[in-house]
Amino acid sequence: MGLSKGARVAQQMLGDCGIDDPTEIPIELIVSGRGATLRYEPLKNSDGRIVFGEKKSIISVNSNLLFEGRRRFATAHELGHYEMHRDSFEVHNENESTLSWFDDKVNRSKKGIQEAEANQFASELLMPSKVFLEECSSYRFSPDLVRHLSDRFQTSRTSTVFKYMELGSHPICVFYCFNNKLRYWKKSDEFKNFIVDRINLSPPEDSVAAEYFNEGKIYSKSQSKQQIWKSTWFDLKEWEDDMNYNFYEYCIVTPRHNTVISVVWEEM
Ligand SMILES: [Zn+2]
Repeated sequence: MGLSKGARVAQQMLGDCGIDDPTEIPIELIVSGRGATLRYEPLKNSDGRIVFGEKKSIISVNSNLLFEGRRRFATAHELGHYEMHRDSFEVHNENESTLSWFDDKVNRSKKGIQEAEANQFASELLMPSKVFLEECSSYRFSPDLVRHLSDRFQTSRTSTVFKYMELGSHPICVFYCFNNKLRYWKKSDEFKNFIVDRINLSPPEDSVAAEYFNEGKIYSKSQSKQQIWKSTWFDLKEWEDDMNYNFYEYCIVTPRHNTVISVVWEEM
């Protein structure tokens, strides 16, 4: 699979700056080294914004963001606009959909290709593919691996899962639910199971996601890998027996936004 434009530009930039591991240098220095001015200030309903000027461009990142991973991602996303989209806009404000990984048709037509490119850039800048692969190649997929990677790269678990879906050796499938409705799903290219279409419906009754929406259940770290049936999320053919498969679901729950990201995988 060829590299996306955003990832290519990020790799080029890291190479130009002589950076192998972006966690070894403060992101603020990378931004100023590229010639942009970075400010942390309170922003309403927005993680970040960029204003392109004749002489200088100003990147603002919301100082109220609670999580380091989210702050880094917003900063890297704006730097991506700075590197790639000078001619596309003069002022640009992020909102829920622009920073979203859920690049469905509705979202894409609303937000344009620049947002996907800036997200690809941010993902590659914060988690360079080469380093990411070295960190995960000798492990099986697990919630612990996601936590390890997200600590290692100082990224959110969501952006880590999406990077893993692109690069990791173990095929996974991700379902995104908001307010007890499935909004979107995405899978690794090698994930071969047929997904039952339930967009805009509630998650399956026997899924871990439904346990959260129906009972408020959130599993502790040590129990975050939950066994489920293949038939929970996937089509089970007549000749298949649910007893013969080992499927698991790991939920990243954000009660504040009432969202659940279910990561589902099979172990052979
Ligand atoms: Zn943007």
